Order: sequence, then structure tokens, then C-alpha cells
Amino acid sequence: MPATDTGLDIEELAARIGAGERRALAQGITLVESTRPDHRTLAHQLLERLEMPVSVARRVGLSGTPGVGKSTFVEAIGLKLVEAGHRVAVLAVDPSSTVSGGSILGDKTRMEQLSRSPAAFIRPTPSDGSLGGVARRTRETIRLVEAAGFDTVLVETVGVGQSETMVAEMTDVFVLLLAPAGGDELQGVKRGIMEIADLIVVNKADGALKPVAETTRTEYAGALRLMRKRPGDPESYPMALTCSAVTGDGLDLVWKSIAGLHDWRAAEGYLATTRGHQDVLALRRAVEAGLLARVLAHSDAAVALQDAERAVAQGDIDPHAAAARIVNLITGGSDGR
Ligand code: GDP
Repeated sequence: MPATDTGLDIEELAARIGAGERRALAQGITLVESTRPDHRTLAHQLLERLEMPVSVARRVGLSGTPGVGKSTFVEAIGLKLVEAGHRVAVLAVDPSSTVSGGSILGDKTRMEQLSRSPAAFIRPTPSDGSLGGVARRTRETIRLVEAAGFDTVLVETVGVGQSETMVAEMTDVFVLLLAPAGGDELQGVKRGIMEIADLIVVNKADGALKPVAETTRTEYAGALRLMRKRPGDPESYPMALTCSAVTGDGLDLVWKSIAGLHDWRAAEGYLATTRGHQDVLALRRAVEAGLLARVLAHSDAAVALQDAERAVAQGDIDPHAAAARIVNLITGGSDGR
């Protein structure tokens, strides 16, 4: 966003986003992606002015390793939804760029047909080097696309590290996409990820892989039965299904199961509670990030933090006591908590 844009009329931008103008939406997203302090202030003003839609959008998280078929799946499901009259936003969260500087998601032509649809909006969330930064931007982008009238928000992430948890913490239903696997071994999917999955979908259930996919599904269904179901969810969840993103087989049932769970949680009041918890968590993280930013901007505290990091790494001092002293430097407090 060029510096001249700080003269932005936020009121007008919010209204244009509310009217579903794509250019305004893109401009709003660029604004929330910026870390410049003046842009942050404008972004906060924008987010506070946005009118939220009356009907609740479906926020769906999707994860899976590279090559499992995420973009093929999102394109196929997205096109079906658009055909049925929905407006679909796809936000691709790519934590890999925080580590490698490269991008797993961005470097190939993805979702070509869907991206041409006027009822779809596809946007990768660039990383600023921290997972917290990506989370903040993605959350704010969800608000923007919903204000612009997108009723379905698919947040997609590559299955590495902490990114699944982060996406699960900002969506209503979380889907894990897996490939058919030979043998009787679960694919090294971490228990923590299984626990947050509402649906496990074994993709590529076509051709020679079809029976393998069915066996894989059965194994995961068995593993899911041992997991605790989310309070209030219907008996059949979490569930394991198969589909083929290429032939389209099974996709209708997959979507029906996702939307069904979402709508059930909404009707029973669980969705509002979960979103409330998610927002409280986001509030806490924002306060933490704000405090850290103040420490880094405070010359004495920033030096004290650097010194403490060295000393803590060598095992010379206790991290909590050191943190309390550093926080006291910016707050003027002395109680050490
Ligand atoms: P992503 O990296 O998870 O986004 O995976 P892609 O969607 O790019 O798919 C990786 C490869 O798997 C591509 O060559 C796809 O054509 C193929 N693929 C995706 N879905 C299916 C499917 O349902 N069946 C088969 N046979 N191939 C698939």
C-alpha cells in the first residue's frame, strides 16, 4: 500500500466493501496485511466500521500435506457451491514461507476455473515471518470477505507444524484431507491433528486407488471412534469419508457433512460459544503481541530482553522472573507478576 493511501477514506472503503466491490475488498485486505503502524490504525478503524452480515458465514478450515489434492478439492467444491448460488472466498495460509522464504501454495497455477468466477475470491495470506502475524491477518481477512458478502470461507493450509491448530482456531469446521495409503498403518498423522479434525476425507478415491482409499477410510474411522467427540455434536461426528476431487465422486456427501455439522452447531448455540472462545483467544494473543511490540520499541526494555535471552539460553536465569522484570520496565510496575 503506497504512503499516499494513508489519506484513505475509511468510511467510504467500508461502504464499498459492504457493497461487495472486489477492488475495495482487495484494498482492505492489503491494508490489514500491512504492519506499518499508521496502516494498523486505519485497519482497526476499517474493521470497526464494517457492517457484519446478518446470516452467519460458514468458515471451513482445510489442511493436508502438499500433493494430497487440496487445490483440486477446493476448486471442485468451490465450483459446486458457486453453481448453487453461494459466494465463496478461499484464503490460503502458507506457513512454509515463514521458514523457507519460499511458498508451497503460491508457486503453481491453482484453482484456475474457480478464480475466474465472479462469485469466488481467492487470496493467499502472505507471511510476515511469524505464525502469529499470519493468524492475525487471516482473521482480519475473514472479517473483510464476510462483510463483502461471501457466505462460505474456506481457509486452506499446508499440513506442517502449528498451522492446523491456528486455522482450526479461526474456523467453525475443520477438515483434514488425506491420501489413500497402502498397508495398515495410519499415515503418521499426529494425534493432535486428528483431535481437531471434524472430518477426515480420504481423497483420490478413484481408479486403482479406490479400494485403497476405502481401507484407509475404515482405519481412520476406527481411530476417530477412540477420540472424544465434541460436546453437543451429533453421534456420527467426527467422521471419515472418501472422495475424488478429480471425478467428483463423494464430493456432495463431503460438503453435506461439512455444512450439516456447521448448521447443527449454529442451531444448537455451540457455534456462537466457540466463536466467542476463539475471539477471546485472539484478544489475549493481540494483547501479548502488543506488549511485546512495546518492549521492543522501548530502548531499555529491548536491551534488557536481549540480555535476558542470552542469559536464559545459557541457563543463567529463570525466564519468568526475567520476563516480569522486563514487563515492569514498560509498565512501571513492581509486583513482578
Ligand atoms: P495440493 O498440493 O494438496 O493442493 O494438491 P493438488 O490439488 O495440486 O493435487 C496434487 C496432484 O494430485 C495433482 O496432480 C492432481 O491432479 C492430483 N489429484 C488431486 N485430486 C485427485 C483425485 O481426487 N484423484 C486423483 N487421481 N488425483 C488427484
